[in-house]
Amino acid sequence: MRIDVVSIFPEYLAPLDLSLIGKARRDGLLDVRVHDLREFAHDRHRTVDDTPYGGGAGMVMKPQPWAEALDAVVRSGAGRADGARPRLVVPGPGGTPFTQAMARELAQEPWLAFACGRYEGIDERVYEHAAQDLGLRVDVVSLGDYVLNGGEVAVLAVTEAVARLLPGVIGNAESLVEESHEDGLLEYPVYTKPASWESAPGTTRDVPRVLLSGDHRAIAQWRHQQRLERTAARRPDLLHASQPVGALADLDLALATAADAPELMVLTRACWVGEIARYGMFGAGEESVEQVADDLTRWQTWVFRSGGRLVASVRGRLDPQDPATWQIGRLMVAPDLQHRGIGRELLAFAEAQAPAGATAYWLNTGAGSDRNLRIYRKAGYRVRPGEGSFPGTVDLTKRRR
Ligand code: SAM
Repeated sequence: MRIDVVSIFPEYLAPLDLSLIGKARRDGLLDVRVHDLREFAHDRHRTVDDTPYGGGAGMVMKPQPWAEALDAVVRSGAGRADGARPRLVVPGPGGTPFTQAMARELAQEPWLAFACGRYEGIDERVYEHAAQDLGLRVDVVSLGDYVLNGGEVAVLAVTEAVARLLPGVIGNAESLVEESHEDGLLEYPVYTKPASWESAPGTTRDVPRVLLSGDHRAIAQWRHQQRLERTAARRPDLLHASQPVGALADLDLALATAADAPELMVLTRACWVGEIARYGMFGAGEESVEQVADDLTRWQTWVFRSGGRLVASVRGRLDPQDPATWQIGRLMVAPDLQHRGIGRELLAFAEAQAPAGATAYWLNTGAGSDRNLRIYRKAGYRVRPGEGSFPGTVDLTKRRR
């Protein structure tokens, strides 16, 4: 990979000569070229900044030296066999947050160029020039929600995170797999010898016993649990997205209360967006939170959560007209968790909730909802002839065994 960095402090990038990144450069895996922006300023003082139009504090980096520097970087690759142009990364506190996923994406690029801003930043027209005149992909990337003095620290961080993903840079590539952020969880705590360490006179700190057990399954379970607990304690925002959900058993079950009504309403609309458009879905599309909450008094409704998020639900009740029939309704799985068999498990769960006296199950679905019909038929339901209880729907029943 080639990396070009343009900065008014080229010496700031000296750490890129050290450690694994320095070795990767020496091994020819990484071609880093650092350019002094002032080389592209032509006045006696090699000026790269000026006062901001519109007033305000601070200085703004002038467009001309930046355009010349970027032009030179692009021109220097004119003879490349792959015809590649650099992807331009401009560090900035107002950019897209830099993540491990972005590091992986950038690691796929053959060539990255970084433009290190200083002062109040770079004249906005430089971004337009890079994208429109030079045809570069331009990304503004933030290291975090705080303000640094310049982009160089961000370039060091991004370069290190990206370069260590390049084949051959890290000796043991397997060590990359289990790290924090690779699958949305933080890494488990790590220990090394001695197993028992006297940290202060009379105080001994031991490595968790499971790590000494040699039981790989138990160690993997312990580590996974530690990852979840650590992520919940330090970065609960990550848990929401990272909970692996493969089955109903992975979800937290509760009986719905009125407090769940707003999320139930959202889940209904998300799950039935197609049906709602097609049939009006017996008013489900227009239901208010109050109506959803009101329904909770007539049905027993179960909600399933993953990392706090309501992702599935189903409800059941004895038919008010026929107390031997257990009615099942509103079987819903969040769209992003569908096609994993959770719906089938949910149906079996709802059937299992029927009181002892119930001898049949009943449910209702859109007459043209082929996928639902297939699932229900496979679960032993038969479609009743004629129109269902609501326009455009069919009723299905199944004898209880
Ligand atoms: N006036 C700018 C603003 O409020 O967005 C801040 C400019 S900052 C003082 C100067 C330079 O530091 C920026 O142009 C950028 O290159 C770099 N910088 C500051 N904070 C950064 C962050 N969180 N991530 C990446 N780069 C940052």
